Amino acid sequence: MSSHLPTFDLGTASAIMAAGRQVADVLCDRWTLLILLSAHAGDTCFSDFRDRWGISNRMLSSRLKALESQGLMVKMVYSRRPIRHSYHLTPKGTALFDVLICMINWEASADGGKSDQLVRIEHLGCSHGAIHPSIHCSACNEPVTASNVDFTINNSAQQELPQWGTAYRRSEPRSSTGPSTHPHPLEIVLSIYGNKWSNEIVRCAFLRVSTFGEIQRHTGISTNILADRLTRLVDAGIFRQESSKSDGRSSNYKLTARGRGLFSIILAMWAWADRWIEERIHAPLRLTHQDCGKTFHVISRCNQCSDILKPSNSRIVLSSLDEAH
Ligand SMILES: [Zn+2]
Ligand SMILES: [Zn+2]
Repeated sequence: MSSHLPTFDLGTASAIMAAGRQVADVLCDRWTLLILLSAHAGDTCFSDFRDRWGISNRMLSSRLKALESQGLMVKMVYSRRPIRHSYHLTPKGTALFDVLICMINWEASADGGKSDQLVRIEHLGCSHGAIHPSIHCSACNEPVTASNVDFTINNSAQQELPQWGTAYRRSEPRSSTGPSTHPHPLEIVLSIYGNKWSNEIVRCAFLRVSTFGEIQRHTGISTNILADRLTRLVDAGIFRQESSKSDGRSSNYKLTARGRGLFSIILAMWAWADRWIEERIHAPLRLTHQDCGKTFHVISRCNQCSDILKPSNSRIVLSSLDEAH
């Protein structure tokens, strides 16, 4: 058993898979994440979203409608003649700040800081340029990693969670490939979290599900899609492929150090879901920090001054539309 991964019992593992799906159904779509990212960076107009990412009008309308119906964004009239709308984050959408800064931070560490030129996090009044937050335990303030967290979930709540598969399985997104002509700042993150299946496979890895057959059984993904997704995840440096010790024929897919770094994004997603997704509010995942033994939530701190980062004291900055083209 790898010492790099979190520990939990089997019941909790299935609850974690289900909880992950509830988040994925809302967030794990490439366009949705890009729209949310630019909304956090201050875009409010339909044309800003469209021109920044090169989204077709039809696709953008459908994503904005979904974001509205999920309560993440709200549409407001800012001009009556002609009628014009602007789109704004609700508190539920604003609360995704932690998820997005974990994604930005992970991407910067994965690509050696290149993505800083396209998107960066600034801590207002602290320093000029990009900062790179670290995640900490809210109880003791020490850093949190995949190897020092335990999960629990209460049993009665567990039974209320949806079974694996069902509606989710039918919703493999058709828009999983993005435009190649428009540079986007979170290339590797989007290749994982812009696609429900990749997200699901990565989540399996944190539950120590690592062979092709096991992943297939846990997720119900068809073998050709699974093979394709695993190849991409190996190419992106998230997994390394090892031949299985038991029979030497099948492959094990193990998280690399870069892959284990995705844990911060997963924790931020769960924290958001436990607070904002109806089904999760009554069945939150309880995280215990092994180092201090206490229940905690994750907090992001500035690497320059150690302050806690919030939407009110920091901002996400995207390169301007002109630079991005
Ligand atoms: Zn702690
Ligand atoms: Zn700072």
